[in-house]
Amino acid sequence: MLTEKQKERYSRQIISEFIGEEGQKKLSNVKALQIGAGGLGSPCALYLVAAGIEELTIIDDDIVSLSNLQRQILYNEDDIGINKVEIVEKRLSKLNSNVKIFTHKEYVDNESIKKFIKDKDFIVDCSDNMKTKFLVNRVAVENNIKAVIAGIKDLYGQLITINPHKSACYQCVFNEPESEIKTQKPLPVIGVTPGILGVLEALEVIKTTLGLPNLENHLLMVNLLNMSFNKIKILKDENCICSK
Ligand SMILES: [Zn+2]
Repeated sequence: MLTEKQKERYSRQIISEFIGEEGQKKLSNVKALQIGAGGLGSPCALYLVAAGIEELTIIDDDIVSLSNLQRQILYNEDDIGINKVEIVEKRLSKLNSNVKIFTHKEYVDNESIKKFIKDKDFIVDCSDNMKTKFLVNRVAVENNIKAVIAGIKDLYGQLITINPHKSACYQCVFNEPESEIKTQKPLPVIGVTPGILGVLEALEVIKTTLGLPNLENHLLMVNLLNMSFNKIKILKDENCICSK
């Protein structure tokens, strides 16, 4: 049952034919694990919490720096030098106190991620490196948790949603690099690009929960230079981890 306050808060999505009260109840049962609270993670977390999921757990091990502010919209100048997860917890709790927010300052690897996956409906990858994206994909497939993975560079982005063992996974499409290519130079990013892709990640969690069309078995290629969104059909690889 939704409370009167919840009915008021979510009134504009409850009157949507795509959500309604039933859909809102479904959203209020979603537990998501988000990896990263940066350029993709800021808008993704804001929209998931605003939409009224049950619980959002965020892992990030970084502190806020001046060069983050051009795209990481959860933070402001007062936050420079402070752990991102500290700020995230305060901001998101103020936005929607109905949502349980858990944050952990931790580097995500094979071992650490296992502590946070219990009972999760989704893992949302908002990291900035391929190694973590492959890790998220593997953990999601092995533990039967749905996943949304996005990547961005400059004015370009990619997005995929994974339904373990049922749809193609990240590894069906991309080859895992043997080791992360360490470049001294940061990648170019127009702030709006992770803004858009992070919002689309939140949308995929919402639409997947509601049983609406999503990006399972598709890779969305976003080109913001010429404003094209191409949905490419992808196939499950019979030799991939998701086919075992
Ligand atoms: Zn696969």
